[in-house]
Amino acid sequence: MIIAIDGPAASGKGTLGKRLADHFGFAHLDTGLLYRAVAGVLLDRGTPLTDRDAAAEAAENLDVSHLDAPNLRGAEMGEAASVISAYQPVRDALLAFQRQFGSQEPGAVLDGRDIGTIVCPDADVKLFITATPEERARRRHVELLRRGENVEYEPILSDIRRRDERDMNRATAPLKAAADAITLDTTHLDADAAFWAALAIVEKSAPKT
Ligand code: C5P
Repeated sequence: MIIAIDGPAASGKGTLGKRLADHFGFAHLDTGLLYRAVAGVLLDRGTPLTDRDAAAEAAENLDVSHLDAPNLRGAEMGEAASVISAYQPVRDALLAFQRQFGSQEPGAVLDGRDIGTIVCPDADVKLFITATPEERARRRHVELLRRGENVEYEPILSDIRRRDERDMNRATAPLKAAADAITLDTTHLDADAAFWAALAIVEKSAPKT
C-alpha cells in the first residue's frame, strides 16, 4: 500500500505524511530530505551548487542514514535543494531508493513533489496538498519564531514564492498534481483538520486500509 503526497514548500505535507504513516503503521519518507542531503554534501565541500557533475556524484553516493540531521531542515538547505533537484542525473540517482522504500510492507507514505507523477505512479492513494503562499509563509514564520529564530514574514514569503516558481517551472519533474490525485487545500484548516480530511480521502480511496 503506497500513499503518495505531493505539494509545494511549507504546505504541511511532511507533518501530514508522518501522521498518516503513524496512523496506519506505515514507514514514512520525506523525500525533500534526500535533495537537502545532496545539497548539504556540496555545501560542506564548498562545491558550487551549479556543479551538476558534483551534484550527480553526491546523489549517487548519498548516505541515507543521516537524513535526520537537524541542519538539513533549515531554509538555506531548502533553497539549495531546490537548485540541485532540477538536475536530471540527481533525480535519476535518487529514484531507485525512493521506489524501494515505497515497496515495503505493510505500506509506505512518501511525500515530495513528484511522488504521484514519477516515483510511484501506481500509488494506491495520491494527495496533492496546497495552501496559499501567504498562509504557508505565515505557518513557517510562526514555526521559526517558536524555535527562537528572529525572522521577518516578508523574506519567508519571497522565499516560498521563489521556490514555487522554480519547482513548478523546471523542465525535469515539475511540481504538479498527478491527473488522478485528490487536491486538499489546507489554507483554512489547522493541522488536525488537515489530518482528518486527508484520512477521510485515504479511507475512501483505499477502503482496505
Ligand atoms: O520538501 P522540501 O521543501 O524539503 O524540499 C526541498 C526541495 O527539494 C524542494 O524545493 C524541491 O525543489 C526539491 N524536491 C524535489 N522533489 C521531491 C522533494 C523535494 O524536487 N520529491
